[in-house]
Amino acid sequence: MADRLEPILPGSYLGILGGGQLGRMFTQAAQAMGYKVCVLDPDSDSPAGSIAEKFIQADYTNSIALKEMAALCAAVSTEFENVPAQALDDLESLGVFVAPRSSCVSLAQNRIAEKKFLATWKSETNIGPVPYFVIEHDADIAHVPTDLFPGILKTARMGYDGKGQVTIDDTEGLIAAWNHFERVPCVLEKRMELDFEVSALVVRGHDDVVVAYPVSQNIHRSGILHTSTVPAPSLKPAQEKKIVDAAKALIRKIDYVGVLCIEFFVLKNGEIVANEIAPRPHNSGHYTMDACVSSQFEQQVRAMARLPLGDTRQLAPVSMLNLLGDLWFEGSEDKAREPAWNKVLAHPDAKLHLYGKSAPRIGRKMGHINCLGEALNEARQNCAAVATELGIEP
Ligand code: ADP
Ligand code: MG
Repeated sequence: MADRLEPILPGSYLGILGGGQLGRMFTQAAQAMGYKVCVLDPDSDSPAGSIAEKFIQADYTNSIALKEMAALCAAVSTEFENVPAQALDDLESLGVFVAPRSSCVSLAQNRIAEKKFLATWKSETNIGPVPYFVIEHDADIAHVPTDLFPGILKTARMGYDGKGQVTIDDTEGLIAAWNHFERVPCVLEKRMELDFEVSALVVRGHDDVVVAYPVSQNIHRSGILHTSTVPAPSLKPAQEKKIVDAAKALIRKIDYVGVLCIEFFVLKNGEIVANEIAPRPHNSGHYTMDACVSSQFEQQVRAMARLPLGDTRQLAPVSMLNLLGDLWFEGSEDKAREPAWNKVLAHPDAKLHLYGKSAPRIGRKMGHINCLGEALNEARQNCAAVATELGIEP
């Protein structure tokens, strides 16, 4: 096993399951460091696949495709949260270094397992999950604690960007929503009074070294991330320390290798609760691409190549603005337009990232802009100015 500790050096192939924007930015970071990248994605129109040295278009469970990937790549990671655990296990059994491994990814794929995990370690991290109740059988409905209403019913699996969630006021609404979800396993969460939302971004190397980025403060619109600002304007230093310590402890508990994001809610009463875990680089960590010594994608490369981790130091205050497909339309999808890039590009400290997606759609993530500033206020003002010029409500 000694050779498993050797770093994988530039010139080698690294593999990524999933060819969306996260895979694309991973590919760009890996290529900048001299690696070659192999992308596996079922979709022929793949933002990462189109720039990778090798693109395998196949289902994640296609054994011929996985063998081809394993023959090429010494290490594989995933950008697609819902990748079948079996694919990661198969790659591992073919001798590939898989980071994060399937047990870590499975945990974050299932809200029930995720919340149990967070609850289990609450005594150590001092941060627990949102109060919740698992709904798997008809009989569970009768046992829902009434103090969870008003609540949010979330499907245990496959939710993202606010999809697979419904707000519920009472038992009647719960039954209707559960039927609407075709009675798949769900969690009912209490709807919390949020003061603001933040996320922690931590990285663990194969040698158990853990590093953390500054916590970002996130604003969502219609369940989709709108902006991330760092340093988090509303977060007190003691709260930031508590969150970072919890995230560092949790990444070790699951023996995770790679970049991990944990979303937290800071409640109106000052209490902090954990929302969810993403087993990969995260949209709220895109700010690291321009504002930190090492981006979250470089860290993913480093972790899976068993290199020492990079410096997470932040070099400038930043506010990241997400660009959704809505921007490409005048109101509805039948009136197309091109966003005012000339205006954005006139800002010397606004860093534009577009993901090369051919078809914009309402709500689809198309790119982001990292707005930097010498002071936090300047970064926020830049972000507001850029948003306004693009026609986005700041
Ligand atoms: P997704 O997987 O779609 O990101 P989340 O569970 O993170 O799902 O929910 C999306 C957003 O919905 C959160 O960022 C938050 O703004 C809001 N939200 C989710 N759960 C709750 C809750 N229990 N109480 C209040 N707001 C919530
Ligand atoms: Mg979320």
